[in-house]
Amino acid sequence: MRDMTNSVTIKHHYSLRGHNTFGLDVKAKQFISYHTVDELVEVLACLRDQGEQILHIGGGSNLLFTKDFEGSILHSDIRFIQFLSRDSREVVVRVGSGVKWDDFCAEMASSNYYGCENLSYIPGEVGASAIQNIGAYGVEVESIIQQVETIEVATGKPRVFRTEECEYGYRDSIFKRDLLGQYIVTAVVYRLSAVPVVHLDYGQLQQLRSRAGVPTAQEIRDAVIAIRQSKLPEPEELGSAGSFFKNPVVPAAVFQQLAATYSDVPHYVVSEDEVKIPAAWLIDQCGWKGKSHGGAAVYEKQPLILVNRGHATPADIMELASLIEQSVMEKFHISLHPEVNYI
Ligand SMILES: Cc1cc2nc3c(=O)[nH]c(=O)nc-3n(C[C@H](O)[C@H](O)[C@H](O)COP(=O)(O)OP(=O)(O)OC[C@H]3O[C@@H](n4cnc5c(N)ncnc54)[C@H](O)[C@@H]3O)c2cc1C
Repeated sequence: MRDMTNSVTIKHHYSLRGHNTFGLDVKAKQFISYHTVDELVEVLACLRDQGEQILHIGGGSNLLFTKDFEGSILHSDIRFIQFLSRDSREVVVRVGSGVKWDDFCAEMASSNYYGCENLSYIPGEVGASAIQNIGAYGVEVESIIQQVETIEVATGKPRVFRTEECEYGYRDSIFKRDLLGQYIVTAVVYRLSAVPVVHLDYGQLQQLRSRAGVPTAQEIRDAVIAIRQSKLPEPEELGSAGSFFKNPVVPAAVFQQLAATYSDVPHYVVSEDEVKIPAAWLIDQCGWKGKSHGGAAVYEKQPLILVNRGHATPADIMELASLIEQSVMEKFHISLHPEVNYI
C-alpha cells in the first residue's frame, strides 16, 4: 500500500475479538482505520488498485463473523458533533460516522433535545445507525435522519442521500439491499426537536406518563437505560449481537390460526393484512430459553438474544441459530430471519 497520512492505521493479520460484540476471535487480513474523508478516499483508491475485498464495520455489534476475513476491514474514526442550526423549535446536528451512538444520544438528552432518547444505550456507532435504521421502544432512527453523507466505494466520489432515498424499513435500508457494500457513511445529519415530542407507549416507559408534567429527554433516556440494563446483556460481560432474529411479520390469516390455538400470543397489528409476532415468544414456546449448543446459548432473560458463553465458535452460533429456526418452523410454520449480519 502507498504511503499514507500518519493518521491512517493499518494492522495486518489482526484479531477482531475487540471489534465484534460476540467476542469471536476471528482474524482480518488487514484492519484499516482512518480519521478523515480524504483519508478514506485515498485508502479506497489503494484497495481498488489491489483488488481487495472490503468490509466497513462500526462497533461490530450487529455482526456474526462466520470465519476469518480474507480482505480489508475499514473502520471510521471520524468523530465530531457539529450543530448546523438551532432555534426554539428544533436543532439540526451533523455527526461523524465514528462517534459512538450513545455518546451522541447522551449529549442530545443532556441539552433536552428530543428524538433519540428512546434509542439510548444501543451499542454501535453513528455510521451504522443510518445503515441499520436502529429502533427501540417505539422509535426508529429514520424519524430523525435528515441526510446521510457517503463515499462511493467504486469511485471515491461523495454522495448525499436524503432520508426518502434511503428507503428505510424495519431494521432495513437501501444500503442493506440494492446498494449493499457500495457506499460508506462518513456523517449523518439528524433533526431533533427542542420542544417535547415523547413516545411513551412501550411497557415500562408508560410509567413516565403518570408523573406530573412532560418528562425531559434526560428522564426518558434514564428510564430507557434502566430497562435495557435490567434485560439485556452488557457486551463487555457476555458476548452477543442483541436481537439475533427479526420479529416476523405474518399475514393476518396466519395470525388468526395461531391465536385460535394460543389465545395469549403477543402481537402488534402492522396493517389490515399483516401482524408482527415477537420472535422471542415463538422461540420461548419452543423451549429454547437458557439452552446451550457448544459455547453458544440462548440468553435466559431474553430468548431473542444468542450469547457467547466465552468459548463459542462461529459454527456454534450458526448451528444454534439454525436449530432455533427449524424448531420455530416445525411448531408454528413461521420463518425466522436473522437481524444479525452474517459475514
Ligand atoms: C446488547 C445489544 C443490544 C442491541 N439493541 C439494539 C436495539 O435495541 N435496536 C437496534 O436497532 N439494534 C440493537 N442492537 C444491534 C446494534 O447495536 C445495531 O445494529 C447497531 O446499529 C450496529 O452498529 P455498529 O456500529 O456496531 O455496526 P456494525 O455491527 O459494525 O455493522 C452493522 C452494519 O453496518 C455496516 N456499517 C457499519 N458502519 C458503516 C459505515 N460507516 N458505512 C457503511 N456501512 C457501515 C456494516 O458493514 C454492517 O453491515 C443491539 C446490539 C447489542 C449487542
